Amino acid sequence: MNAVELAGIKIDNVTLGEAAAQVEKFIESNHPHLIVTPNPEMIVACQHDRELKEIINKAALRVPDGVSLVVVSRLLGTPLKERVSGIDLLLRLAAVGAGLGWKIFLLGGAPGVAAEAGRNLQAQFPGLKVVGAEDGYQRDDSVVIKKILHAEPDILFCGLGAGKQERWLNHHLAELKVVGMGVGGSFDVISGRKKRAPTWTQALYIEWLYRLVTEPQRWQRQLALPKFLWLTLVRKP
Ligand code: UDP
Repeated sequence: MNAVELAGIKIDNVTLGEAAAQVEKFIESNHPHLIVTPNPEMIVACQHDRELKEIINKAALRVPDGVSLVVVSRLLGTPLKERVSGIDLLLRLAAVGAGLGWKIFLLGGAPGVAAEAGRNLQAQFPGLKVVGAEDGYQRDDSVVIKKILHAEPDILFCGLGAGKQERWLNHHLAELKVVGMGVGGSFDVISGRKKRAPTWTQALYIEWLYRLVTEPQRWQRQLALPKFLWLTLVRKP
């Protein structure tokens, strides 16, 4: 696996299939591994957040979660093969895991969301074992940790929001002895509470516009995209 560096953040040059195959190896190894999904917002945040930058750069797998990463990598002459979004990797792993009898645990989202996402995954991928689901607003981490330890999942999908989930996983993975992946708001989508941007917006590179129109309260977060372009194409190291 070779990596491309964008604004100091290492991104693995993998396709969705290659990423899933890599995760399969992590699970077979029986050792904790961290999977992260850097997007422009995370890359911009890492410029002022050394801890997050270190966590991402030393993660076992860092997939390019954003078409802008692919476009920029091409313009810089170090092309990434394709966009691999967190939710697509989650769904691919659920499909692979259904065949292999993997046990998964979902942590994150408002009360009830992870459980609902778990039920939908179970229905869509019979064979997959959803061994636990907990919301992401609990006060006592130790209770959650005990539940995960007891459930012994192969993969822990953690949707606490970018930054928080990577720190949480980095802090707890060794103790939990699992493969952990940060999945942002994926449970909101899988549970049916939020819609994904339609694929045509991705093809036209205007997914950001769709998000701006459907979730205008997030406009400030979208400033990350021009900042990311500036960091990678104008400022350069
Ligand atoms: N979340 C959570 N605990 C928190 C903060 C956020 O479980 O303390 C969840 C929130 O409910 C949502 C997800 O984290 O499901 C963040 O979603 P967003 O679309 O903002 O993802 P991001 O862009 O941060 O990856």
